[in-house]
Amino acid sequence: MKEKVFCSYCGNRLGKGVIDGKERQVCGTCGQVYYENPLPVASVILSNEKGELLLVRRAQEPAKGMWCFPIGFAECGESIEEAALRELKEESGVDGLIVGLLDVCSDQTGTYGEVVVVTFRAEKVGGAEAAGDDACDVGYFPVARLPRLAFSSQERALEKFLASD
Ligand SMILES: [Zn+2]
Repeated sequence: MKEKVFCSYCGNRLGKGVIDGKERQVCGTCGQVYYENPLPVASVILSNEKGELLLVRRAQEPAKGMWCFPIGFAECGESIEEAALRELKEESGVDGLIVGLLDVCSDQTGTYGEVVVVTFRAEKVGGAEAAGDDACDVGYFPVARLPRLAFSSQERALEKFLASD
């Protein structure tokens, strides 16, 4: 996690202090405590009528060149479900409908620090498969021939998907 240098409230330099039994950044001037929170990530597992799963190939780091389920950060102003469907559309061109919650898990990433990954099951309701945003390819893969996924959180969600099928 990147440390802040200055207090967002009063502009003075931040120090460190032990708050609630944990070392945190704290402003020595106004007393504001800076809590570190994991970033929320939304992910989607979607299958076609043959039961094959939709994957996108990552055009960017981390895990550039590897395949994964559509995934990305939730932004303010949208629900976690809306974030999942937005990422699905941006990366794969598919319009989806959320049909269930598959998995929620905490994960540690090298690039973004701690994240909470929420994986939904979705159905296709429109659109056309086309890679976009930070994906460079899109395709449906039979479960028996899935490539290794870019993120361990998605391997875990996949196990739950297969167990629930
Ligand atoms: Zn301050």
